[in-house]
Amino acid sequence: MSVEIDLRGKVAIVTGSSSGLGRSIAEYLSMAGASVVINYRKEKDKADEITQQILKNGGKAICVQADVSKIDDVQRLFETTDQQLGPADILVNNAGIDGKRQMCGDDDPAEWERVIGINLLGPYYCTREAVKRMTVKKSGVIINITSDHEFVPWSGYSAYSSSKAGLSMFTKTLAQEVAENNIRVISVAPGAIKTPINEDVWGNPDSLRDLLKKVAMPRLGEVDDIGKAVAFLCSDLASYITGVTLPVDGGMLLYPDFKHGG
Ligand code: NAD
Repeated sequence: MSVEIDLRGKVAIVTGSSSGLGRSIAEYLSMAGASVVINYRKEKDKADEITQQILKNGGKAICVQADVSKIDDVQRLFETTDQQLGPADILVNNAGIDGKRQMCGDDDPAEWERVIGINLLGPYYCTREAVKRMTVKKSGVIINITSDHEFVPWSGYSAYSSSKAGLSMFTKTLAQEVAENNIRVISVAPGAIKTPINEDVWGNPDSLRDLLKKVAMPRLGEVDDIGKAVAFLCSDLASYITGVTLPVDGGMLLYPDFKHGG
């Protein structure tokens, strides 16, 4: 007997998939047989490149521009998917930003609103479109990419941490709402994964050393670590998992500083 991740016949939308984790998630879903929608906001060249790469490898993909923080863009993203591939079976709310570092009281509220708009309202706008379609099919999977900062506070990034903690509660609440329609909703919380979002940290030897002290395993995460986890959670191998967060973080939540006592 063998076990495989089989997503043949499924249509998957991955937001913010022109780079980083989203790109890897789209690639793994495609390798498992899903038709994928590469969503981008500004990086058309990169989105075209990954779409072509998937087509060249024998997969099915389209790319669609849409800003997830704009409700009309999101509606167009789902309608274009309906027309070109069919209604979505899988939604991965991956698009996100960490925003500018700013301390509360000495900050710009517009920046807080921008982070919440992309990281929390964006997944909400996408999810409501997905749920309408998945309810008709009585089947679907929604993955919300949160962060270890749904659990761990991050000074100077209160908007980011709040958006991810909020998204985690959205996962749980929605999972309760839609379970009867065979729709699963799961959060994936990455730890420190090497992508453009945190290149300023891992690209500098001093800050890299500091960051590695926060991870129990002796390495940072790679984008593949997230792509593989999401492909598993979207598949029938995970058919009884819903309403929880899976940290994919090499043990960052294990407080590795306590390893030597304390
Ligand atoms: P990234 O910057 O490579 O990817 C973010 C993507 O979101 C980009 O493609 C960007 O164009 C897109 N995006 C931003 N605003 C958008 C909008 N309004 N509409 C559509 N797309 C938009 O960084 P990443 O590390 O791949 O981040 C992906 C997700 O993973 C984010 O939600 C991030 O918070 C989360 N995350 C990353 C890490 C990490 O260590 N890399 C850790 C925890 C959580």
